[in-house]
Amino acid sequence: MRRLTFIIVYLTICSLNTLFCQVKPNDLKITYIANEGFLLETINHKILIDALFSEGYGAFHVPDKDLNDKILKAESPFDNVSLYMLTHYHKDHCDPELINKYLSKHKTIPLVASMPSIVYIDGNYFGFIAKKEQFRVLTPKPNKTLSIRVGDIPVKAYAIKHLSMYKNDVDLEELMFNVAYQFEMDGIKIFHSGDIEMNTFKDFLSANRDKTYKVDIAFLYYNLFKAGKSDMELLIKELQPKYIVLMHIPIKKMEEIAEKTELLKKTFPNILFFRNSMETANINLYNQN
Ligand SMILES: [Zn+2]
Repeated sequence: MRRLTFIIVYLTICSLNTLFCQVKPNDLKITYIANEGFLLETINHKILIDALFSEGYGAFHVPDKDLNDKILKAESPFDNVSLYMLTHYHKDHCDPELINKYLSKHKTIPLVASMPSIVYIDGNYFGFIAKKEQFRVLTPKPNKTLSIRVGDIPVKAYAIKHLSMYKNDVDLEELMFNVAYQFEMDGIKIFHSGDIEMNTFKDFLSANRDKTYKVDIAFLYYNLFKAGKSDMELLIKELQPKYIVLMHIPIKKMEEIAEKTELLKKTFPNILFFRNSMETANINLYNQN
């Protein structure tokens, strides 16, 4: 009987707070959704970032309908989400209809996004503005930072320009507003770059020479490492991560990047990337400084 009581109590705690039963202190559990979309989980928090989208331009991983439905319905492991974050409004990061639906269904979940992203969603989904109570809008000036606290999660938004794509000397991404985020979940510091490249990252750094950045885990656009070891050394010097997660890898380049990663691991062993939706990694930051 006692044992049964214990089991019932345990199950009650689990159902009240599933995190409690899955993730230990100092752990970060990463669930890959697709492209730059992840569910991040620490002992008390879950954050979704760039998670709801349905377009991959034929080049990038896309969550299938079942996965999008699971997120929308907040089925485990997507239950008890504290925060939804969006780096920018390209369709391989953001589906206006799905995000609108998500905020409608989950009225206590705040959305952290820039004003251009909000305007884009509102333009594509009439009436989105009615959910503005849920918006936590962060639109720093180019190469500047804005900070807020959402509950007990400190969030910094860095306006690092979206990577460029030139055609006849015109940068086709000139107007795309990208935000990189640094946020802290139960003491674990996370950086998510969005779509940036080394030049835009360097511009940001040189405009912020008086500041330092120190994170535990950096989620980085895969092509930041275009030049290989030298790029990686710069990123490690600036962000000081214990782990790096590569993201936005084109499906066709998976094997090429896998080989490149093996070489980079000789300099920095803790690099990982994901190949399939719902793959997970549990990173323990215990005893690491
Ligand atoms: Zn993009």
